Amino acid sequence: MNEPLIELKGVSKSFGDNKVLDNVDLTIYQGEALGIIGPSGTGKSTILRVIAGLTAPDAGEIYVQGVRREGLIEDGADPVGIGMVFQQAALFDSLTVEQNVGFLLYQYSKIPRSRIRELVNEKLDMVGLSGIGSRYPSELSGGMRKRVSFARAVVSNPDKPQDAPAVLLYDEPTAGLDPIASTVIEDLIRQLQCTQGVCASYAIVTHQESTIRRTADRVIFLYQGKVQWQGSIDELEKTEHPLIKQFLSGSVHGPIHVG
Ligand code: ADP
Ligand code: MG
Repeated sequence: MNEPLIELKGVSKSFGDNKVLDNVDLTIYQGEALGIIGPSGTGKSTILRVIAGLTAPDAGEIYVQGVRREGLIEDGADPVGIGMVFQQAALFDSLTVEQNVGFLLYQYSKIPRSRIRELVNEKLDMVGLSGIGSRYPSELSGGMRKRVSFARAVVSNPDKPQDAPAVLLYDEPTAGLDPIASTVIEDLIRQLQCTQGVCASYAIVTHQESTIRRTADRVIFLYQGKVQWQGSIDELEKTEHPLIKQFLSGSVHGPIHVG
């Protein structure tokens, strides 16, 4: 197995009385594609936010390339960049695609506008959306908005190469898309993983079976605050684990409590 890139050790997080993550250990290895699955409300988005450094855990430790992170991402310097693709594409409706993708560079860098435009266009090319920079989000399909949000997650300041994301976190990237638009997104996630011969890591939260199969190498199943099962995609297909069988079959009968 490759080197660990991100490690969560004994991470817990509660919201009020609701213990969402309960002593969770999780590792994302260099170059791997980790799928995180589980019923709604089990803390999948929360765990991504903890990995991204957007939510602080109540207990536990987080290591990025072996370096312990203290506090949130703005407080410290993780040795590698982490990019997040939010569950809703979360674009600003009143900004153009170019302004959305280049948002952080326009706001926080001194890079000239013409150079930002070039950087944005490179990323739009990468996600197969050349030439749409002047459009507004409302003029795009759901799948296109998703791809714009991918471009935004991978755009970075060329003067700060350490900020370029080595890990991408995708929160339900195919939710609400039709099967063909989902396939486009799944293929793109795989393409973005390996650019310039280097394979980055990513973690992907999804409900959709096709997306699990096509985008994950290894899968963990999260339920009731814990990692209940983990294994490869092949093992996922074959396991007799009652939680996994119920989840994949969508049955209301089984150990998963139907709320
Ligand atoms: P999932 O992504 O698996 O559907 P979430 O991580 O979004 O689950 O949420 C897990 C639980 O934590 C849910 O019960 C949700 O209501 C709760 N939760 C998430 N974020 C917050 C928050 N900021 N404040 C209060 N409760 C939250
Ligand atoms: Mg979620």
